[in-house]
Amino acid sequence: MKLHKLFTLLGTILLITGLFGCASQASDASAPSNATSEQSVGPYTQEMTDDAAKALEDELGAFEITTAQRELAKSNTAGYEVLDAGRGNPNWVNAKARRAYTRLMDFAIEECQLDMEKGDMAGHGIREKIAERFDAAMNPNDEIDKFLIDAVAYCTEQLSINKAKLLVELTDGIIGNYYPDPSRCLTCTETILNDYLQSTLYADADLKETTQVFPTEGGSAAMSYVFHSLSHNHVLSPGDKIAIATPIFTPYLQIPGVNNYGLVSVSVTSTAEEGWDIAPKELEKLKDPNVKAFFLVNPSNPASHALSDKSLEALVEVVKANPDLVILTDDVYGTFVDEFRSVYSVLPHNTILVYSYSKLYGATGWRIGMIAMNEDNVVDKLIAQLPDEDKAALDDEYDIVTEDPASMRFIDRMCADSRSIGLYHTSGLATPSQVFMDILSLTHLVNKDADPYIEQSKALVRERYDALMGALDIKPDQDRENAQYYALIDINELCNARFGDDFTKWLNEQMTDLEFLNDLAAKKGVVLMYGPGFEAPEGNVRVSLANLDKDDYTEIARRLNELLDEYHLLYEQEAQLPKAA
Ligand SMILES: *Cc1c(COP(=O)(O)O)cnc(C)c1O
Repeated sequence: MKLHKLFTLLGTILLITGLFGCASQASDASAPSNATSEQSVGPYTQEMTDDAAKALEDELGAFEITTAQRELAKSNTAGYEVLDAGRGNPNWVNAKARRAYTRLMDFAIEECQLDMEKGDMAGHGIREKIAERFDAAMNPNDEIDKFLIDAVAYCTEQLSINKAKLLVELTDGIIGNYYPDPSRCLTCTETILNDYLQSTLYADADLKETTQVFPTEGGSAAMSYVFHSLSHNHVLSPGDKIAIATPIFTPYLQIPGVNNYGLVSVSVTSTAEEGWDIAPKELEKLKDPNVKAFFLVNPSNPASHALSDKSLEALVEVVKANPDLVILTDDVYGTFVDEFRSVYSVLPHNTILVYSYSKLYGATGWRIGMIAMNEDNVVDKLIAQLPDEDKAALDDEYDIVTEDPASMRFIDRMCADSRSIGLYHTSGLATPSQVFMDILSLTHLVNKDADPYIEQSKALVRERYDALMGALDIKPDQDRENAQYYALIDINELCNARFGDDFTKWLNEQMTDLEFLNDLAAKKGVVLMYGPGFEAPEGNVRVSLANLDKDDYTEIARRLNELLDEYHLLYEQEAQLPKAA
């Protein structure tokens, strides 16, 4: 969507003074309404058709809408400081891992200089006795050196990794003088990342020995590699039904419809009534053998809720009826839930796991995430069962990078596909990025029973969540499954609670959700995200608890209430006007 076009569209909306109900309300003939557009008094007085409004909503993704609202907020009429709780980018970072990265880089450069030093030029490093030099270089009384000592000791003692081999991988990796080799994932790195995933996401399941990992440029690249390779390998074909756990992070709604994947999506919906859990009854839809894949974000985004144990058990039962179901679970918020259990941990053979370091560690700019799959998985089985013709065509393609294309695993196919197969030998995530993933993982692993950083991150979002809910006078959801990284707020419920149903009905006749959010930005300088853009019900807005401080959330609630007070005043004034004949 081009920005200028977007602003033209938004400009149109802002000029509108006409009153139109949101699409669902407009089509609801039973909704009592005595207000026509002419007689209503509200912030808008010019008319725009429901169709035009709906077309606008359909055309813009939730993220693009927020971009436009950010512009409106900058010149908000109240002259308030902008409070942007739209994006999910955290406003905290992990400092220790970054310091350790710098320290390790310094050590690696010294290793290179031992080999050769000519001005700014250094050698490749010497490998012999690297472990002894590491021990000599690290000062146990320095906090960061001590962490590196502990991290290396953890790898050798707990993960049985050879110390010299690890140090060579870390120093070569951070220097970045070699292509990633093996291209999919460095060797010691794969062991470390597996241990991290197991410790943070699998609860009691022991899968680290049987899981393979492909580090990627964030969860975003992970998602697009999975979609592309499932399609490229005919695991998903045009016309296939895929189920999507809605409401969901918008790319999952958008990607299947673009790229000519031609997939038909079915929503598996969680609702506020079910506490944003997916009810076992809803999961029954996955029993249909025509449903080939199920995509979910867990804990979800925007509702920020993890699947309950009951729903996980129901999912396991459902898969017994549809054993070839391919599940993609995006667990980027998993560490924000106590005793989190990934779908991968209960259905390892059916599930592709996506994880990202972006949110927990404040690392969106690093672009670091990964795909994990079990060695024994249904995707490889489905590829092996393809019609001979399809298999032969694929073998012909992968033939250029491997001697035995037929037995090339899906996870390696994704790695090859990520570089158009032909560039497989230079594929894989940048080695310094893989080393940073190791370091981040090890900050957790050395304290895995009670990781203070993870506990602080959870406490930080929880305190913001409580501030917001308290100031809005909404009962907080204290479920263990609530990650509290985002809050979905139902504006209609808020209106009902403050002023009663009649006012809420009136307000819905005056404006759509989108107009409400535009008004909140333009008048109060507050940017929130449009819930229906994620397929959340009308009336819902997403507040990110990741990117502002606690007091800002109290202030967001105050401004929201202030805007509702102003609407309520208009509502009362209108009630005084003589009714039109
Ligand atoms: C933020 C987010 C991502 C993106 O991860 P990156 O690693 O930053 O690309 C993926 N999935 C969900 C559900 C997210 O909210």
